Amino acid sequence: MNFLEERILKDGIVKEGNVLKVDSFLNHQMDVALLDEIGKEFHRRFADKQITKVLTIEASGIAIAYAVARCFGVPMVFAKKAKSINIDGDVYTAEVESFTHKNKNMVLVSKRFLSAEDKVLIVDDFLANGCALQGLISITEAAGASVEGIGIAVEKGFQYGGRSIRNLGYHLESLAIVESMDPKNKTVVFREQV
Ligand code: 5GP
Repeated sequence: MNFLEERILKDGIVKEGNVLKVDSFLNHQMDVALLDEIGKEFHRRFADKQITKVLTIEASGIAIAYAVARCFGVPMVFAKKAKSINIDGDVYTAEVESFTHKNKNMVLVSKRFLSAEDKVLIVDDFLANGCALQGLISITEAAGASVEGIGIAVEKGFQYGGRSIRNLGYHLESLAIVESMDPKNKTVVFREQV
């Protein structure tokens, strides 16, 4: 079992509706030493890639993406949720349905911060049905940049996002893959990874 799986067993809370709460260490209160470990681990896993930019989506991906970008020594960019439908032409956009809030958001990245020369590592805290990742992939590809890899802290393997992203041929690394979880018994079972 790796460091993140151990922490999820210790402090993660299984909620109804296939939601795993990790807000005491990952996305509300943040354990910065754990974030550093996550950054180092993704740096190790994608060490053979010439990453020029780390891309995530606000809000909960930002801290992880920061830690990863720090290790690669490259800028981190986060897709912003658009506040207005008046979006000018200087941005790449994608529509993303939120798994946790069940609403749709237009997210955007300024064309100044992503270019055809960029080799992008996409990072997020969770992977459920893959909607957030699809949005980030489409923004990267609209810029003509390449998706060199995708790093996810917690993938819920019983939802279809991971399978569909891997089927599309992307190099997806998830530090913890939850195979099943049960809100009644408070149990979490992880997929064995080599
Ligand atoms: P997807 O777009 O893959 O369906 O969902 C991924 C996004 O939803 C992530 O950016 C994450 O913020 C949120 N999310 C999905 N499942 C969970 C969960 O079980 N717990 C938490 N805390 N966030 C989740």
